This record gives sequence, structure tokens and C-alpha cells, in this order.
Amino acid sequence: MPAPPPAARWEPDRRKAPPPWPSPPLLVAIGRGMAGRCPACGRTRLFSGYLRVTQECAVCGAPLGQVPADDGPPVFTVLIAGAIVVALLVVMESTMHLSIWTETGILVPLTLILAIALLRPVKGATVGLMLRLEIVKPPTH
Ligand SMILES: [Zn+2]
Repeated sequence: MPAPPPAARWEPDRRKAPPPWPSPPLLVAIGRGMAGRCPACGRTRLFSGYLRVTQECAVCGAPLGQVPADDGPPVFTVLIAGAIVVALLVVMESTMHLSIWTETGILVPLTLILAIALLRPVKGATVGLMLRLEIVKPPTH
């Protein structure tokens, strides 16, 4: 006597619909954001100011302004710049014998330059990562 067929069970379709904008590989999206391009298509600019993100990509329609990057980019920037400056301080202390004022005169401007130079690419990379992971605020209207 043949075994009875397994009981058929209905399952809802839990597959998530793809977003309406292009979805490149993760590292491509991060790299495009870091370069200041739209993370989804790479064909338009991500920023409309130094740190102001364009509301929506004019080519692919990705909701760039809806990505809630918030305090992430400044935190990552402080971590990166802090690691560089502290490593440099340790090297300067152990190999050179500079006065504290000379070290201050080198490291304080370097910290400011690093923070200003890194903030924009780090914000772009964060927006690229979050857009690729579809972490987007729902539209408010
Ligand atoms: Zn785009």
C-alpha cells in the first residue's frame, strides 16, 4: 500500500517585493555613496550641498532624502579620525621628542582637517549602505 501524500499546507507568499529603484551589490552601493554619486544608479550626485542629501535621484527615483542616516556618519567619522590621530600621537611620543605645543600644533589642525574631509564620504557610504539595505523612512504626505 503506497504511503499517503504529504499533507499540503498553504503558505502565504513571504517574498519581499524588490524596491522600485536599482539594487546594486552592497559594496558597489557603498562605493558610489562614498564617491558622492547616487548609490542605486551612480548617475547623479548624492549631495546638493556639503552634507545635504538630494531628496530623490532624478534618474532612478531612489528616495535618497528618505534615508535616516542621522548621527551615524559623525560617529563613524570621529572613530576613524580619532584612531588616526591617536596612532599618530603614540608614534610621535615614542619616536620624536617634540614639545607638547608642537604636538598640539600638528594634531589639532590635523584632527579638524580629517573630520571635515572624512565626513562627506562617510555620510555617502552610510547612505549607500542604508539605501541598499532598504532602510528608508516612509514618505510623509
Ligand atoms: Zn539614482
